[in-house]
Amino acid sequence: MFHEIYPKIFDPEYLNKQPLPDSYLLFFDKSYVFLQKTDAEYHSENACTDLPENGLSIPKFKYFGENIDRLTQNSYYLFSIDDDDYFLALNFDSDKGDSLQLTGEKIDIFRKLSPKSTAFAVLVGYHIYTWLQNRKYCGRCGSVNLRSDTERALICPRCSQIEYPRIIPAVIVAITDKDNILLTKRANSSYKLPALVSGFLEIGETLEENVKREVFEEVGIRVKNVKYYGSQPWGIAEAVMIAFTAELDGDNKITIEENELSEAAWVKRQDVPILNSDISIGQEMIQKFREGKL
Ligand SMILES: [Zn+2]
Repeated sequence: MFHEIYPKIFDPEYLNKQPLPDSYLLFFDKSYVFLQKTDAEYHSENACTDLPENGLSIPKFKYFGENIDRLTQNSYYLFSIDDDDYFLALNFDSDKGDSLQLTGEKIDIFRKLSPKSTAFAVLVGYHIYTWLQNRKYCGRCGSVNLRSDTERALICPRCSQIEYPRIIPAVIVAITDKDNILLTKRANSSYKLPALVSGFLEIGETLEENVKREVFEEVGIRVKNVKYYGSQPWGIAEAVMIAFTAELDGDNKITIEENELSEAAWVKRQDVPILNSDISIGQEMIQKFREGKL
């Protein structure tokens, strides 16, 4: 999965750090990320490690030459991976993308970025960017929020309301019936591969109740033996995906909720497609079922 970057170590703790020339700088505007398009020559000159397949990488501050001071003053510390610090470019306007020699890509590009630590850094950075964008103003009194120097938080200077990052819990569930798994295709989504049933937690629900409700709403069946499988940060939706396995309980007749899904079907183990991707926890569970490990 894209967040499994071992032996690299991710450290999410907020520190009031200043960037160094070798620190990374992430640029986002709406649903786009702006990356450095590099070639083999640049990489050999700068002694970078792996050249990503599509030539897209996260730029370092030193890449920006005379713009370094301006970018340093308009940056926000995000996290570190090993000894590398990552910052967010504040007030970035994509109209300036060209002058900074950056390439704008839809955020979905994270699925194709390598190494995994790049994909992970882009998605975690995007999550924090989205939070800052959506919390510019205090939700209680409407004043402009200020960024805390001591923790990852926004503080209202007028009423002292504190806003912490928003992480929305969502469940995803692999539903099986003996040698069959229930695969779906989401309606109105750019994601074309088979998916599992998933959905956001409602206030007052347990995760297990969330699984049972979501399954019944989306595909009209009941499930039992709901068991925790694992979890994955999913910054594209400001979410954490909490994955479960569950078994069919009773009638296997599928009734799809057409607003959410375009297709849903029981698929025999030997007919489960090879996805050639292990980006998401849903894809991992589908592949494990195919291999008889789930
Ligand atoms: Zn306020």
